[in-house]
Amino acid sequence: MSVSIQSSLILAAAASLAIAVGIAASGPPAAAQAGPTAAAGPASPLCASGAQQSPVDLVDAIEADTPPVGFNWSVTRGGTVTNTGSTLEVDLSLSGSLETQGQSYTLKGFHFHTPSEHTIEGRKFPLEIHMVHETEAGALVIVGVLVQEGPPLDQLDPIWATTPVRPGAAQVLFEIDPMRLIPGDRTHYRYEGSTTTPPCAETATWIVMASPISASRAQIEAYLQLFSSNARPVQPLNRRYILKSRSFTPPSSAQPQEPQRLERPQRMVHKGP
Ligand SMILES: [Zn+2]
Repeated sequence: MSVSIQSSLILAAAASLAIAVGIAASGPPAAAQAGPTAAAGPASPLCASGAQQSPVDLVDAIEADTPPVGFNWSVTRGGTVTNTGSTLEVDLSLSGSLETQGQSYTLKGFHFHTPSEHTIEGRKFPLEIHMVHETEAGALVIVGVLVQEGPPLDQLDPIWATTPVRPGAAQVLFEIDPMRLIPGDRTHYRYEGSTTTPPCAETATWIVMASPISASRAQIEAYLQLFSSNARPVQPLNRRYILKSRSFTPPSSAQPQEPQRLERPQRMVHKGP
């Protein structure tokens, strides 16, 4: 185990170094400077005039028997990691689906925002992951996962290490287990909204996990060295309701979180030179 921890730390350090070198050589990515607000200009009227826009502040939620959600995500090795200039996108292949309200939505991939786009009672988080699911007809279910600082999330190290320092794509040559990117507690908020980047299409059901997952300070900083803020501000709720599912944690056998294993690298990170 210590060998794998060491290699993962070396990977993370190498990623940080590569990122730092990339920034020094080229300056911040141009697209990141423009930001999502600039991108959501007149070319996308819904972004300015839509009444069901995302993200929102998750506050005054109504606890309810929300429709069940089945996460049928599987471990995958195919796909790409793309630096789009404003975010890091992981496009997955054959990685499963999400089932809700009698409909199956295919998991297309995930990307990151910093800081979080959704807030919980006004609280922002350093990162937010969006797991994007779509039907053939274009209906979306986006699962939002808030990330706070804490024990490292080992799934991130190979992704960080693979991310091109300049806009471009790289092949995923390692295993990604999407189930490791959501918290064990499946309590979530649910509301009807939009994509948070143009065209701001109001075709998205949002499922935002109520409990954050954690990533280490080094992992969050490695991300911030490459990407500037790309979070759209919270939008008015207007006539919508936010529902909150009743508390639910699946049986522990299905849970990948292993606190003892996760605590050890964190101590090593803090003791480092
Ligand atoms: Zn997003």
